[in-house]
Amino acid sequence: MSWKRLKNSLLTLFSGKSNQVGKKHIVFTAPSGAGKTTIVRHLLKEFDELDFSVSATTREKRAHETDGKDYYFLTPHHFKTKISNGEFVEYEEVYTDQFYGTLFSEIERIEKLGKSIVFDIDVEGAVSIKNAFADKVMTVFIKPPSFEILKQRLIDRNTESEASLKKRLKRVEKEMTFESKFDQTLVNDLLEVALEEAEIIVRNFLDLDS
Ligand code: 5GP
Repeated sequence: MSWKRLKNSLLTLFSGKSNQVGKKHIVFTAPSGAGKTTIVRHLLKEFDELDFSVSATTREKRAHETDGKDYYFLTPHHFKTKISNGEFVEYEEVYTDQFYGTLFSEIERIEKLGKSIVFDIDVEGAVSIKNAFADKVMTVFIKPPSFEILKQRLIDRNTESEASLKKRLKRVEKEMTFESKFDQTLVNDLLEVALEEAEIIVRNFLDLDS
């Protein structure tokens, strides 16, 4: 999506009388398999102030996932119609023929709840959101301790076919080069430690009491 179009869309959405004005939002981004989803889920349980932006995607639903909770699973045709209708704040073709995007309707849903939005999106989507929101958004890059550990985690997770695993590992190299574009880096080595650090990052950014 062009930067200009994204910016205009966001300015429209977050200008004026919206009760979202003044709210801060947090974007978590990472290479696939870095543990981002686990950390995000933990934070959503810990903090009532947060709500999750459920993305739309054209990828296949995994066995443990629920439509409307983990993602809105759309056909490619349906996804493209939504692109044409300008329904996305941002979207990316993260992997060939696999689209992911943040819907305006999702942001409006959370806006009505008066909560801060947590995004779990890829590195390019994260940069777009940061450019548009500037200091109203904090971007956190979750980094695996090493490429080898990341690879092993993806294998152990057992959610990907061999072809999909290959596709994801190929993209990791590019994703790792994005680290310096984000506000914070969180190394996910020992999960317990990473979860605690994530809580501290959220508390500080949202000015919450500990
Ligand atoms: P997965 O297929 O493992 O659930 O997600 C693959 C990648 O797509 C992850 O990096 C995830 O964060 C990213 N992703 C999920 N939703 C969105 C979205 O709405 N926009 C963008 N740009 N990326 C997304």
